[in-house]
Amino acid sequence: MNYELRTKSKFSESKTSLFSKRRQEPLHPASVSFPGGTHPPQSKELTFESEIQPGPNVKQVAVMLSQHIGAACEPLVKKNDTVQAGQKIGDAEAFVSAPVHSPINGKVKEIALQSHAVLGRSPAIIIEALDYNPAKRTPNVKWKDEVGENRFSAEQICDAVRVAGIVGMGGAGFPTRVKIEPNPRLPKEIMIINGCECEPCITCDYRIMLEWTDQIIAGIKLAKKASGCSQVFIGIEDNKPKAIEVMNEALQRTSNTDSINVVPVKTKYPQGGERQLIKAILNRNVPTGGIPPMIGVLVLNVATAAAIAEAVVCNSPLTHRVVTVTGRAVANPGNLYVPIGTPVAELIEFCGGVTQKSAKVVMGGPMMGIAIADLTTPITKTTGAITILTKEQIGSAKFARRQTACIRCGRCIEVCPENLNPTKIAHAVKNNLLDVAESYYINGCIECGCCSYVCPANIELTGYIRTGKIFLAGRKKKIPE
Ligand code: SF4
Ligand code: SF4
Repeated sequence: MNYELRTKSKFSESKTSLFSKRRQEPLHPASVSFPGGTHPPQSKELTFESEIQPGPNVKQVAVMLSQHIGAACEPLVKKNDTVQAGQKIGDAEAFVSAPVHSPINGKVKEIALQSHAVLGRSPAIIIEALDYNPAKRTPNVKWKDEVGENRFSAEQICDAVRVAGIVGMGGAGFPTRVKIEPNPRLPKEIMIINGCECEPCITCDYRIMLEWTDQIIAGIKLAKKASGCSQVFIGIEDNKPKAIEVMNEALQRTSNTDSINVVPVKTKYPQGGERQLIKAILNRNVPTGGIPPMIGVLVLNVATAAAIAEAVVCNSPLTHRVVTVTGRAVANPGNLYVPIGTPVAELIEFCGGVTQKSAKVVMGGPMMGIAIADLTTPITKTTGAITILTKEQIGSAKFARRQTACIRCGRCIEVCPENLNPTKIAHAVKNNLLDVAESYYINGCIECGCCSYVCPANIELTGYIRTGKIFLAGRKKKIPE
């Protein structure tokens, strides 16, 4: 079955009036998008042209036992064990989980609690490096353009992805094997490859698209075969014309790519949210609280596709990833290929350290990232960026963010990509009316931060909503079925 792509004319622009001054014109004539959203400054210029480089010569890594959605891993090694690069060091029997591997040759120093950006203190395997040489672990896998996906059965591909511990590398961290494996109850027809990278400052996916193009195409072909999808759309924001160009060129020179198409989408935040990308490309709605397979769609990030190719063709587990180290407070920003488990402090030092004006370190980008206080926090499979903000940025933000009363302007409603009423939800949470917040679909919030970003009264709407969701989840756990 052929699915007609959405064109600009099919998308209503009616919600744009309030933000028309900030709105950029699409750079590609056929760009499509989703309703709502906003346009924070892209701020990608610091690393946009920075080629992927090997990272620091790490002395020690901390491999978190939980760096994905689902069951945490149990350690398979103990203190003083010697481990080899690529050796499985943690796994779980649960279906929704993914094993973890040592990225380096080394010795297990201890299994201890370590700072985790999302989970707080969480168990990790600390490994001291014996002979790590970043130059030998080159990121530039040269693909001979044809992966020969017919060499592998769908089962072999799924198994290789599970064994390699691949999870969604765009930030969600959902185990990829569970995603791509055919499910008779929820058959997948269409695969969308997410190359949007809509979060400001981050450029790791952009550089992967430019430098590992054939590897991504190879991963797409393998994932398509494993999942049984008949069509693939690669969604790329139209502020990345070079990525659109190289992807199209790669598709033209590769066989069996007739059903794979690049779709330029508008540069708008959060265009990279999977629900928003599906809406933009297919004009389909994922049910609130539902998942894309419910409407026959599978979404994978470009970095995940590249990891699939490496796992299936080269038998390589997911032990390294590209991380953008950026922000005006870091001396030499760049895109680094680093072992998973590398401490944030080591990356910052490798990038020339911070300027005296540095004030805040964020794991991720400025919209959805999480500020961290402990710089020993390690990189996980889902960490795409470290952003270091200056004192001026924090200072001015503090001044600008003095909260005032809601003026009922409706901006938060205009920009919400999930069509929610953020002010009503936040008000309910503030007054501890969790049932009311639930009736306003608080759990449909994707925590994109658009509402907080545009609120002229500087009300931390996303913060209230996030807190409300945590309280609701806690309350549900306490109530017996
Ligand atoms: S919460 Fe903020 S954005 Fe929403 S209506 Fe009130 S003032 Fe406007
Ligand atoms: S309510 Fe949630 S989904 Fe809607 S704009 Fe705010 S953070 Fe984003």
